[in-house]
Amino acid sequence: MSSSNDRKRGNTDLEDLERLAEEIAGCTHCDLHLSRTHVVSGEGPAPAAVMFIGEAPGKKEDELGRPFVGRAGSILTALLAGAGIQRDQVFITSVVKCRPPGNRDPKREEISACKPFLFRQIGLVRPRVIVPMGRFATSVMMDFFEIPFTSFSSVRRREFPVSFQGSTLCIVPVYHPAVITHNPTRRGDLEDDFSYLKEVLQRTGCNDE
Ligand code: SF4
Repeated sequence: MSSSNDRKRGNTDLEDLERLAEEIAGCTHCDLHLSRTHVVSGEGPAPAAVMFIGEAPGKKEDELGRPFVGRAGSILTALLAGAGIQRDQVFITSVVKCRPPGNRDPKREEISACKPFLFRQIGLVRPRVIVPMGRFATSVMMDFFEIPFTSFSSVRRREFPVSFQGSTLCIVPVYHPAVITHNPTRRGDLEDDFSYLKEVLQRTGCNDE
């Protein structure tokens, strides 16, 4: 049961998160602002026990200003449901908040410019489990927390406890939902990842909330 202090802090974090979203919406720190339709800062409650991080907004996300609303988003929503997670109970965002033209990979300087927003979001959302989806988001998290990273396959579906702002949280890399739009034979691997995630969340009590 949450205490009144926890509830007050939760309200403050949510207000701070909304203020941060307004700040991100006006950001011009890198050239991606020149081609975006909308900034996609992320969505979800604060605090949230689980935070999902993708690479960057796609075409549909750029059009609507919301994360994971295209084809990969439908897959993610179904995977979350299968893992017993309500989408509106988790925070979903990406490493960069504006769509790279043509869905190219974000450039190093774009990641550097945008990364502080992501870590400010983590500080306000205070997740107990962070789920980077795909090689790209995973490499950014591993780099930040100084975890050796040689390949995505060597860290996928494993747990990495780290310390962040005085709390311990766990990083659990999984495939990006878009993997099966490019390679349908990966569906089983993706479902295995989310089954594993379900077990982690049950073990840590993260999906009791
Ligand atoms: S990608 Fe990030 S740093 Fe670049 S303009 Fe968008 S919000 Fe700003």
